[in-house]
Amino acid sequence: MPERARPPDPQIRTLAQLKAATMACRECPIGEIATQSVIGEGLLKPRLMLVGEQPGDQEDLQGHPFIGPAGKLLARALEAAQIPREQTFVSNAVKHFKFELRGKRRIHKSPTQREIAACHHWLEDEIALVRPAGLVALGASAARSLLGRAVPVLANRGQWLPRPDGLEVLVTLHPSALLRGDPEQREPAFEAFVADLRQAQRLFGR
Ligand code: SF4
Repeated sequence: MPERARPPDPQIRTLAQLKAATMACRECPIGEIATQSVIGEGLLKPRLMLVGEQPGDQEDLQGHPFIGPAGKLLARALEAAQIPREQTFVSNAVKHFKFELRGKRRIHKSPTQREIAACHHWLEDEIALVRPAGLVALGASAARSLLGRAVPVLANRGQWLPRPDGLEVLVTLHPSALLRGDPEQREPAFEAFVADLRQAQRLFGR
């Protein structure tokens, strides 16, 4: 967990207040170009809080996390791992959608380390409100934000890594990495992703 860019905001006591604060945030350049901020959704005090990188095109337009193709793949993987999605909370390390225009298409662009760091205090405020028993880092940007250092995802996937606050982080790939991968390897890659998520089952009493 990196050092916070600033202390917790005492005015933020609800997710609605977090949404309003991130909507107004311009602490990095991404806030200027996105339609709206997208914070997490799901159960409070869940067994698991899953954290991805940033909202995508659909998420930016509709204001909900993990509703696009990667979200659908994540839902399928959670079901295969027998993790009830309704008992989780899903969010992102960065709260606005970063993209570049190619013609009329908005193409995802990865946030820089500086942008991830700028958004980190909002993620920690969110974790404090949600109070999960464990965290899942979906991809390198989420792992960096949650653990405060670069984490080689392939070398650490399926493992729980501790944070100084006592919360543990299960590291795995972002589902969009599976969508971008070799189509012939898609099924084994999906099975490996599900195997990583199964490591979370101990939090569900299995
Ligand atoms: S991405 Fe995060 S830090 Fe950047 S403007 Fe949006 S809420 Fe603020």
